[in-house]
Amino acid sequence: MPKPVVKKEYPLTVRVYLIEIIKGLGLTWKHFVKNIRYSFRKGPHTVPTTWQYPEDRRPISPNFRGAHMLMLNDRGQELCVGCGMCARTCPAKCITVKRGKPAEGEEDRYAGKTCCEDFTIDMLRCIFCGFCEEACPKGAIVLGQGHELAEYTMEACIYDKARLLANYEAARAAGTLKPKPKKVPVDAPPPKAAAAKKSAAKAAPAARKAAKDANGAGKEAKSPEGDKK
Ligand code: SF4
Ligand code: SF4
Repeated sequence: MPKPVVKKEYPLTVRVYLIEIIKGLGLTWKHFVKNIRYSFRKGPHTVPTTWQYPEDRRPISPNFRGAHMLMLNDRGQELCVGCGMCARTCPAKCITVKRGKPAEGEEDRYAGKTCCEDFTIDMLRCIFCGFCEEACPKGAIVLGQGHELAEYTMEACIYDKARLLANYEAARAAGTLKPKPKKVPVDAPPPKAAAAKKSAAKAAPAARKAAKDANGAGKEAKSPEGDKK
């Protein structure tokens, strides 16, 4: 059986909605005045729920993977040796490296005996996986915090060596370079385990020889029976 509908009786003050309308307008004005006040104050314009980008910028994690940079060492030398490991590792195949040798008199510009003559990254294809950074044996390519990557032309999205070096300079000036990765110490095996491993390695050829001899002797012992048959 459906329940009977009971009509609720509201007082007149509720039925005209006047008080509710006044309450709603009061709340709207409260926020309006608050936002006006925030927009005139000094410093960040951020109100509790909204970051007013681009005036206010959120701090970015040092692990963020943004625009690439070609790194220099403390002496201002290019670290890239043009080995091409990053290009081979890149799953999107968007890195092109041309290896070369430093020109005469320019050896001081480079940290290695070889260098990259040309280095391009097609940012339209990059998926920001960071594999290139992990694969580089010299720590020469790093994904920085640059995230405003919009361009007007497709050509501008192909970063050349000059742009990648400029990204490094900009990050250094802004103080947003990643801290150098710590070297993970490799523990030596405990002495007992190492000794046992060594003795086992020594005993292995002797054991193999003994097994071989025993196998040969068994065959010889069997052969007279075989002849009788
Ligand atoms: S971040 Fe990934 S996709 Fe982009 S260049 Fe590096 S390896 Fe290639
Ligand atoms: S950035 Fe690193 S991995 Fe890539 S070519 Fe240069 S040295 Fe080799």
